[in-house]
Amino acid sequence: MSGLQNDCFKVGDEMIPFAEGLAILKSRAHRVVGTETVALRDALGRVLAEDVIAPRDVPPHDNSAVDGFAVMAADLNADGETRLPVTERIAAGHPLGRAARPGEAMRIFTGAPMPDGMDTVVMQEDVRIDGESVVIPAGLKAGANRRKRGEDVKTGAIVIPAGRRLRAQEIGLAASVGLGRIKVYQRLRAAVFSTGDEVRDPEFDDAGPGAIYDANRYSIGALLKGLGCEVTDLGILSDHVAEIRSALHDAAPGHDVILTSGGVSLGEEDHITHVVESLGSIDFWRLAIKPGRPMALGRVVDTAFVGLPGNPVAAMVTFLRIARPLILTLAGRTDVDPIHFKVPAAFSLTKKPGRREWLRASLKPGPDGAPAAHRHPHQGSGVLTSMVASDGLIELPEDLARVEEGQPVDFIPFGEMMS
Ligand code: AMP
Ligand code: MG
Repeated sequence: MSGLQNDCFKVGDEMIPFAEGLAILKSRAHRVVGTETVALRDALGRVLAEDVIAPRDVPPHDNSAVDGFAVMAADLNADGETRLPVTERIAAGHPLGRAARPGEAMRIFTGAPMPDGMDTVVMQEDVRIDGESVVIPAGLKAGANRRKRGEDVKTGAIVIPAGRRLRAQEIGLAASVGLGRIKVYQRLRAAVFSTGDEVRDPEFDDAGPGAIYDANRYSIGALLKGLGCEVTDLGILSDHVAEIRSALHDAAPGHDVILTSGGVSLGEEDHITHVVESLGSIDFWRLAIKPGRPMALGRVVDTAFVGLPGNPVAAMVTFLRIARPLILTLAGRTDVDPIHFKVPAAFSLTKKPGRREWLRASLKPGPDGAPAAHRHPHQGSGVLTSMVASDGLIELPEDLARVEEGQPVDFIPFGEMMS
């Protein structure tokens, strides 16, 4: 299934603001994956393909929140102790099978169904046992220590909407309404290439004079796996048109998205753009962002194409802020926007207005214990150690020209963008 039109990502030659670029991606891309049903226990990280609608109440019956004695509140004296005979014992999983009568108390345990007619539980720590009776002090509120049927989930409620990524808590909730299998989207199939005559694989190659090890195929592959994609590592492309062309052409049929890094600027050795154009369509996005330019978006035959910049930090940051929403949309996700937090800056800085900038930063508690954002001192677009030393990205808006120490800035934790 193709999710992309001809010239799907055409935006013209103008410099485009980040928000506009993102809106274009979200409006022009849509889900390309089909569905499958998997065991709930294997569904972690998958994308839910249909709303989970609760077929039963949770909890399914009023039940005791503590170990103690079930009573009718109407039997209790308001201004003194109440003595009641203990007539039954109700353990979790063993409903009593008869309604309660006024004037009796029942031994009850956490999770055990409340018998019809009883509305209140007194904790075992708060009572005195006297032979076959229990003595309950004054002051117990009607309804105390009772969990009501349906207080977590009501029958018919949409408890998880389609398009959500299933985390541990969604898996637990789906189990609690009785689902043992669950309908999810098939994994998005992603292919990753690196480009450049200087790039070598750290597993298989020695880096001789003038060579560097390939960081991007490893970082981008890892990011894709974190997003739940099935990743094919297609190695390194040299800077030769014919090789790039046949590799991209062969990769297209079995994948939903192809990602490359490097080779997308306007340098003489940068051929990716022309090759993709000849196999489908491409647009060279002049995004008003830093780090990150240049990048290219388009399609190879029917497969989405993302050409990331070559510099390792730029490749990761543009992946996280631009490729990620596209990839998640193709994969059927609806919850694609990461959470931002306002955090005071622990630095001051002058910025060129007119572009959106991301700074690598870590959060450290200030004198009052509240976190402040510390900008990493090395913000070069090739300095991967700055990513390792940081907790996330500070996002500075286009119109901003200066950040003063203490000024609130938007901070996005890496964890928000890596799943
Ligand atoms: P390019 O966009 O191809 O001009 O590359 C920009 C910079 O990123 C150059 O310094 C490249 O050597 C470097 N680079 C490109 N691809 C990779 C890669 N896969 N891993 C590490 N550095 C890279
Ligand atoms: Mg290159």
